[in-house]
Amino acid sequence: MPANAADEQKGKERLKTSLEQAAEIFAEKNIRFTDLRRKVFEEIASTQASVGAYEVLDRLAKKGTRLAPISVYRALDALLEAGVVHRLESKNAYFACRRMHKPRTGRPPIFLSCEKCGAVQEVDGDEIFRAIDHAADDVQFETRVRFVEVSGTCQECAAHRKV
Ligand SMILES: [Zn+2]
Ligand SMILES: [Zn+2]
Repeated sequence: MPANAADEQKGKERLKTSLEQAAEIFAEKNIRFTDLRRKVFEEIASTQASVGAYEVLDRLAKKGTRLAPISVYRALDALLEAGVVHRLESKNAYFACRRMHKPRTGRPPIFLSCEKCGAVQEVDGDEIFRAIDHAADDVQFETRVRFVEVSGTCQECAAHRKV
């Protein structure tokens, strides 16, 4: 099998697993994994990068599913609520949770976003969020929304650069 075909096959398997995991999480939380939510999730989970709402809209339209932006936003809200996708605030884009296969600790992750290929990763951000709370505490600020995004170069892109 040529490398591309192998990659494609791997991608398909990863997508299938993500879909199964997402369906499981929806069931656990008693939220309906509707056909529309599934379709929107599929578009987001089919790439390692983040995807904007209008890109999701475009891709679905090309596959024959024409939707109003509000429908996509509602589906995205449900996916966010279930925790199967996250929002990258700096880009106003969405990506599929990378840690669905791990025990869900409820600990907030920080997002690492590659400037070259757009891939987004999640790592544990416990200590960072604790530090934020401490710093805010010092000035008696009550934190509510906290997110930490770091941009840079992913392992794969860094390896290519060295060649
Ligand atoms: Zn996640
Ligand atoms: Zn990269």
